[in-house]
Amino acid sequence: MGLNVIMLGPPGAGKGTQAERLAAQRGLPKISTGDMLRDAVKRGLPLALKAREEMDRGELVDDQTMINIIRERLSRADTDAGFVLDGFPRTVFQGRELDAIMEDRGKGPLVVIDIAVPEEELVRRLAARRICSSCGMNAEPTDEAAGVCRRCGGTLVHRADDNECVVRERLRVYAEQTKPVVDYYRGRPTFRTVNGAQPPDRVAEELEATIADAARAGASFSLGAQR
Ligand code: AMP
Repeated sequence: MGLNVIMLGPPGAGKGTQAERLAAQRGLPKISTGDMLRDAVKRGLPLALKAREEMDRGELVDDQTMINIIRERLSRADTDAGFVLDGFPRTVFQGRELDAIMEDRGKGPLVVIDIAVPEEELVRRLAARRICSSCGMNAEPTDEAAGVCRRCGGTLVHRADDNECVVRERLRVYAEQTKPVVDYYRGRPTFRTVNGAQPPDRVAEELEATIADAARAGASFSLGAQR
């Protein structure tokens, strides 16, 4: 049975970094809707024109656009053995649609990980964050010291939406629209919380153990039984 993981948590919780590591470790595709949108903006794709305005303001791109993107992405064969989803679902509506997609796929339940971090720590992290201007990967402290991306050697830059004013808006949007997604999943046997206010290596260790445990719990429940 595949391992289908979704990473929840506020902006700056470390979802992207942890999703990247986990996906590499398990040989699964990491699917980040934020990365997909930023890539579409960079390539000037039509869907990105409107999305860009929302992203620059720290608001959410509309549900239907996001669901179309995810439905197409999850129909590709590289997700057959599972995936690590980062940044989706961001609304309860998206969560329900994802359940419907998963039911059609019939390839195992979702393991839902909520990465919890206090708000003051998030603001501090987001102000300091750098990403690679070529491949979009989040930089780690060692990359920052070197000034270039460890994966492709690209230049590190601030994300356009990481300035303080937009960060506050993204945190507000999270509390209002995405926090309810955590509650949507909370009652499932495959839902787990991980403490994100630790060094990345510690978070990764906790995550690995937690996912193994949740996947075991998931194996004994069908998606239908979880709802
Ligand atoms: P992220 O890199 O996940 O922080 O996403 C950056 C921005 O892309 C967000 O602030 C939203 O504007 C947009 N975005 C990414 N994923 C979604 C989603 N699932 N639903 C709506 N908007 C999204």
